[in-house]
Amino acid sequence: MDNFPRPSCAITRSAPAKVNLYLEVTGRRPDGYHNLVTVFWPVAGLADELALELLGRPGCELRTGGAAGVPETADNLVCRAAAAFAGAAAVAPAWRFTLTKRIPVAAGLGGGSSDAAAALLLLNAAYGTPLAPDTLAGLAAGLGADVPFFLRPEPALATGIGEQLTPLPAGAAALPLLLVNPGFPLPTAWAYGALARTPRPPAPPVAPLLQALAVGAAAAVAAAGYNAFEYSAVHKFPLLNLLLEFLRRRPEVLGAQVSGSGPTLFAICRPGTPVVVAAAVRAAFGPAPWLWWLPD
Ligand code: ATP
Repeated sequence: MDNFPRPSCAITRSAPAKVNLYLEVTGRRPDGYHNLVTVFWPVAGLADELALELLGRPGCELRTGGAAGVPETADNLVCRAAAAFAGAAAVAPAWRFTLTKRIPVAAGLGGGSSDAAAALLLLNAAYGTPLAPDTLAGLAAGLGADVPFFLRPEPALATGIGEQLTPLPAGAAALPLLLVNPGFPLPTAWAYGALARTPRPPAPPVAPLLQALAVGAAAAVAAAGYNAFEYSAVHKFPLLNLLLEFLRRRPEVLGAQVSGSGPTLFAICRPGTPVVVAAAVRAAFGPAPWLWWLPD
């Protein structure tokens, strides 16, 4: 007998996207991570799907169906999360992951980070929760700044590198969102480099956004949003500037901004109107932008 688990049916988990309603970068740490103040907002309707099968032989396999820009190697955040779990739980990998990508890649929507968190949660469940929440959170922070949030993807204020999470009230506003990706990826490392080179005005405080979320006032949420990456991103990519200005001029749109380190934009719309704004973007910009909204 070896100590590998018996083959099993797949267990699956949804790995949702996020947007950042507020994102300020307050400094760079010696380890390369940045200190942030951010408000994470999960986008549950837009999600990758990750399936885990326990195999009767050693190894960690990953199938992505050839999703563009997504490595099918040990570099994939799913494999890196699995390796971290194997080390911390002292188990031998005997796993096949099947990843169905729906979240655009290198988009500021946290797709890879969400996949990593899903891998940690799937493995911990499959082995009878050997790792306590704090241990999982520590592994997650080692994988990336956004990963801890995705262990429990609920609206949250994050500080530190993104790992110090304060849940926001459950009554936070429902936000009708339209996501607009210009159709090209933006590596996070480039975005941080450009941020450091580009002057920007001081960030507004985050408190008004938290107050607006607490009372569920979508217009006030939209007015209080902020993203430090906007200035460098629109400077480098005029198309982003055009899209942002277009969204902000629409009467249905309460506010529009960059998500994460870009290039995806999101508009907070009046109820029932994301579809209208999406049609207008399509008419003005043609087929290239990727658009997503949750149907009413
Ligand atoms: P964030 O908002 O957390 O900065 P992002 O949406 O900008 O993330 P990702 O989609 O997570 O960026 O991917 C960034 C890079 O990570 C990609 O260029 C890709 O090569 C690599 N990567 C590794 N694993 C994955 C994964 N599971 N899904 C997507 N990209 C992955």
